[in-house]
Amino acid sequence: MMKTLMEYQQNQPWIIKENSFDNNFLSKCESVFALGNGYLGVRSAFEENYIGEKRDMFVSGTFDRFDKSEVTELPNVPDFIQMEFVINGRNLDLNLGEITQYSFSLNLKTGQLIRHFIWKFADIHLEFNFRRFVSFDDLHLLGQEVTIRNLGADTSFQLKSGIDGQLTNSGSQHFAEGTKDQEKNRILQMVSTTAQSRIDFVQSTIHDFSDRSLIDKTRIEISRRQIHKLYWFHLKSNRSIKISKLSNVYTSIDRDLNQKTVEYMISVSANVLNFDVQKGFDYLLKKSALAWEEKVWRDFPIEIKSIDFTDQLALNFARYHLHIMVPKHDGRMSIAAKGLSGEGYKGHTAWDTDIFMLPYFTMTYPEIARKLLTYRYLGLSGAHKKAALNHYQGAQYPWESAWPSNGEVAPVWGAADIVTGKPTKIWSGFIEQHISSDVAFGVKQYIDATSDLRFAKFEGYEMIFDTAKFWVSRLEYNAVKDRYEINNVVGPDEYKEHVNNNAFTNYSAAWNISTAIKVYEKIKQQDSKSFDRLNKKLGLDKTYRQWKEKLPKLYLPKANKDKILPQDDSYLSKKILDLTPYLKDDAVGTLFHDYNLDQVNNMQITKQADVILLFCLFENIFSLGIQEASWDYYLPKTMHDSSLSLSTHVVLAVDLGRNSEAYQLFQKAKNIDLGPYMNSSNDGIHAASLGGIWNSVVEGFGGLRVIDGKLRIEPHLPKEWDSLDYRINWHGAKLQISETKEDFTVTFLNSNHLNQIVEFMSKGQKYQVKAKGSLRIKL
Ligand code: BGC
Repeated sequence: MMKTLMEYQQNQPWIIKENSFDNNFLSKCESVFALGNGYLGVRSAFEENYIGEKRDMFVSGTFDRFDKSEVTELPNVPDFIQMEFVINGRNLDLNLGEITQYSFSLNLKTGQLIRHFIWKFADIHLEFNFRRFVSFDDLHLLGQEVTIRNLGADTSFQLKSGIDGQLTNSGSQHFAEGTKDQEKNRILQMVSTTAQSRIDFVQSTIHDFSDRSLIDKTRIEISRRQIHKLYWFHLKSNRSIKISKLSNVYTSIDRDLNQKTVEYMISVSANVLNFDVQKGFDYLLKKSALAWEEKVWRDFPIEIKSIDFTDQLALNFARYHLHIMVPKHDGRMSIAAKGLSGEGYKGHTAWDTDIFMLPYFTMTYPEIARKLLTYRYLGLSGAHKKAALNHYQGAQYPWESAWPSNGEVAPVWGAADIVTGKPTKIWSGFIEQHISSDVAFGVKQYIDATSDLRFAKFEGYEMIFDTAKFWVSRLEYNAVKDRYEINNVVGPDEYKEHVNNNAFTNYSAAWNISTAIKVYEKIKQQDSKSFDRLNKKLGLDKTYRQWKEKLPKLYLPKANKDKILPQDDSYLSKKILDLTPYLKDDAVGTLFHDYNLDQVNNMQITKQADVILLFCLFENIFSLGIQEASWDYYLPKTMHDSSLSLSTHVVLAVDLGRNSEAYQLFQKAKNIDLGPYMNSSNDGIHAASLGGIWNSVVEGFGGLRVIDGKLRIEPHLPKEWDSLDYRINWHGAKLQISETKEDFTVTFLNSNHLNQIVEFMSKGQKYQVKAKGSLRIKL
């Protein structure tokens, strides 16, 4: 039986919790309980140090390249969290003595982290209560508080706490040391600058004691990349003390700073902290919780009435994390594959954002989705760079991206090859090309859902055109077959490298080109001003002729006689391996303990949804028969070794009417981070899978889709659910959708336009609902 520390309390869908301490499994909760606000992200490591801990704090967008041999990454910012307690001469260490009443929990609604325990060791008997939050109200602020109650005899303490810049990113030190100072006696400040990108960081921290008369003495300590304050204090029996530590961070790329000089940042940082300390921890926490309520929960609640309350918990967890990782304050940044909760994927953005997370934001917080798309728009320069390097035209988006103009930042070398003993080459950055159509797909869906014409005219259409321009330059003519092909790619299934005509890649490229043709024709007719501007900028007339000429001959793989859509030209002729032993394992990638990637490449083994995702995104193209047969064929060959896989399977299983299978897959998808396996999230949480939770609930069981620009609602609640209630934004109107197994109701809550009418489809029928109106449809 696997050891797990995760505990969920019946009917507590907002609390995730651990009820015991185990030094061997620190990483799980460091990631899963991470705090943040999209600007700042902090892993929830403890105040005291443990072997195996990973302290990480990141500020969105502050990429730095340690060395030419490495790719740029988000640097691990000097740490505030650590507070070292020496009690009666001994370090606070939960591996020693006896711990009772232990609990470590995160409130997903308020973003408050709490750790509570009673520690008895030698002559020490104390109750600790730690609280922590990253403010959702002030992007720069992090608050910590510890209350210590003395349950034993008189006890003496030494606390060492401050700012520690001796951290690295797995050994790479990104910061040059700047000044360290104690401003006006109480505020500790540290300046550091990223070595290559030259971004200045100013960090400040201040400690406040509930009873300063208990302090015997204090001293400041400065050492390499560190500034600390030492406090000696004592607690008599039955007395308690509360210590708060408020910290903030500013950087020279912050948009909310009027000046970017270090001097200015030092003074802003100190002034704000001086005000904050007067307001106090409780007040600041309350403000932050209120911001969560007002900015996230209040306007777009989602409620699942299920026999299993963890369905709701998983959804709350997913939404919490999506909001702490999305840099909604700045369009020059996007969501990283591990959010801001770990060093995995180095803070880079992948198609995870465009295909798996964007739908949630597009449908519920379109202003945030808009920011994520602005990031892609600004990324056009990097995409042009990549296309030019490969002798293509238009915008070839990087597989992994960092600062928008960087271009490709995917690493080239990965984990050990079990056969050769050398690092495995990662081909995604070179030939995983579907990212360009993924970006265009996200753009189109946003335009369809919001009718944001300003965005369409000035950013959106250009991305659709420019990616289609890339594809048409990428196509390869096969003279023997008189058709265009896309050869030598990696599709979504990264266990198949250098394949020809990956179905997902070819179909999505074709969709990209045909969408560009439609948009070209539409705006040429309806908006000559935009058309002329874009035509001049991108040479559209010429490219349009190429689109029209090549698209009809672009090879789109067809299903075989058994109705199976081939994933690529060679997949179906490869050897089949029984994957049962590997599928039973809790860890992912265990296949590579026995085989190397070359060997896996030559077998019918799929890492993640590939053909299945194609069916989800472009459902109208494929018959139900083809989808059914392909599902049965690919499922036993799919490892789900990427966290992007399960939620896609949930959605398609619902489409295929396999509701109980969908619900079982949903239980697995929920467990990717939240489940009992304690090593699932070591490098950070799985951002795309969290988007996938919303997709499973709302797009899957809820049956909400955007198909060919139109809204469609066809609920298929699992038998375990009584009802599902959610809200969406559609063309500026806010709709409430309440679903049961018998019927569903669409209520038009409010709109910017008085006479707006919203149209939607359900089971082939068209419906309309007027502003303030409501419509109930029987199933
Ligand atoms: C998946 C990719 C994904 C990446 C980041 C990989 O394991 O195969 O599709 O983009 O993880 O989440």
